[in-house]
Amino acid sequence: MKILISVYLLLGAALCQFFSAYFYSKGRTSYRKAFSILLLCLSVYLFGCLMIINSDNLQEMIFWNQIQYLGLPFIAVLWLVVALLYTRTIYTLKNRTALLLFVVPVITFFIRLTNPWHHLFYTGFEATQIFGINALYMERGFWYYVNISYTTLCLLLTIVIYFSGYLKNRDDDIRNHFVITFFVSLFTLIGIMLLLFAFEDQSIDYTALIMPVSLLTISYGVIKHDFLEIRTLARETIFENNFAGMVILGPGGRIIDYNKAAQDFFGELNISLDYYPVERILDREPVLLEIFKSKDDSDYSLVINGEKRFFEIDTVPLGDNQDGNMKMLKSIRDVTEERKIREELKVLATTDSLSGLCNRTEFMSLAQRELARAKKQNGELSLLMMDVDSFKHINDTFGHVAGDAVINEIGNLIKSSFRKTDIVGRIGGDEFAVLLKNTSLSEAKKAAEQFRETVAGKKITYGDHEIGLTISIGAAAISENDDGSSIEDLLRKADDALYEAKARGRNRVAVWGNGI
Ligand code: GH3
Ligand code: MG
Repeated sequence: MKILISVYLLLGAALCQFFSAYFYSKGRTSYRKAFSILLLCLSVYLFGCLMIINSDNLQEMIFWNQIQYLGLPFIAVLWLVVALLYTRTIYTLKNRTALLLFVVPVITFFIRLTNPWHHLFYTGFEATQIFGINALYMERGFWYYVNISYTTLCLLLTIVIYFSGYLKNRDDDIRNHFVITFFVSLFTLIGIMLLLFAFEDQSIDYTALIMPVSLLTISYGVIKHDFLEIRTLARETIFENNFAGMVILGPGGRIIDYNKAAQDFFGELNISLDYYPVERILDREPVLLEIFKSKDDSDYSLVINGEKRFFEIDTVPLGDNQDGNMKMLKSIRDVTEERKIREELKVLATTDSLSGLCNRTEFMSLAQRELARAKKQNGELSLLMMDVDSFKHINDTFGHVAGDAVINEIGNLIKSSFRKTDIVGRIGGDEFAVLLKNTSLSEAKKAAEQFRETVAGKKITYGDHEIGLTISIGAAAISENDDGSSIEDLLRKADDALYEAKARGRNRVAVWGNGI
């Protein structure tokens, strides 16, 4: 009998050690790590049991009982932590609350260690025999009852957590896992109850006999059937490796969890994330703090390695938030490349590549907006239509590529000759338009005359050639209190004036209204 139990305990301790190391080395999920520590504590405890039943005298037994308490106080609380981690209930707890769980076990650890000085845990020991096997009978002290009550409480909570997990889940596989973990926890609890109440005199440690089977059953389940695993692992992996930075904020704006990308993002600001409220972590970054406190999505930009980068920070509410204490996930997405592409596409869609000015569509849309504004404010607005004289001749003489170079150069001349606020565009082949804001017709005529002279005085170098050219310009302006006319009307008037300038012999400015 003694040999049988010894072998059982030895096997149990060895298997616990083995699974503990196995889970630790493969411990990608936090609950696996906690489970690994739990198994380690259990193996210490079982080894203690083994040594006690094989001890010759009381001193040795007391020594091994002492060794047992290196692991024993933590078993129940770790069992609870595993359940909390698996169901993610732990994230609804404050960090301090989670740490508080370990207060009683740590005190137990020290009280048992120092028991010879105060006898608060055991008041006396006696070597005894149960069914012919050496056993240690202990007179229980005050703290023993505190510890056993706490252990019972932890196991009860674990049972409740697994049971509610069973009720909440619809997936049959996961429900089965919950049923097994529920019963395993229940048996362990029954073992403790037996130890406490049923056979006090004999001090049979039923938990020592039940626990190895319980935990090894689960270990087997974890390895063989991905017990409690795939979903948790998938969630944690997706969370951790997501390209978007993710920060989970709990009640009071406390940071509950974050992933690597979030760590990197805050690293750029020299901020290390910690499990404090965001107010404390972001006190040096008021803009970011506002964003993190807000329930809305926001944009944020940051200079990283000399390059401005853009981020979208979105909010996903977590839970029902009925208590007004917002729990949320903040996701931080780097949208710099998207923005760049969007900008490039916008430039491509709105710019004329040859002249670098607005294309016709963009010019019309900007001009339309400007006309509406001018009318609303009763302001002045003029338009110049310009067309290169005898451009066909330039093309014919120097070639089409030379013609392109001329268009490009006229684009540059227009950009440098008019104000930054004016809207400049290439309307057609060799036709350009300039919308002059807050400009009367006479001022527009002056500006046109000046530009005509600039062009006439310019020689455009193309290879060995110096190309001289002239330009004709038609000017028009919106008339006062004219609500009806559209940008097309204005364009037509300037075009009529341009036609007049050409008709009068080119290289000149004509103004709409003077008999046109
Ligand atoms: P006018 O003084 O009456 O304006 O005479 P013109 O020769 O300039 O006549 P018009 O403005 O009607 O001709 C424009 C010419 O511009 C016709 C076309 O061959 C040429 N053209 C249009 N687009 C381009 C272009 O992108 N590159 C080049 N090189 N030529 C172009
Ligand atoms: Mg022309």
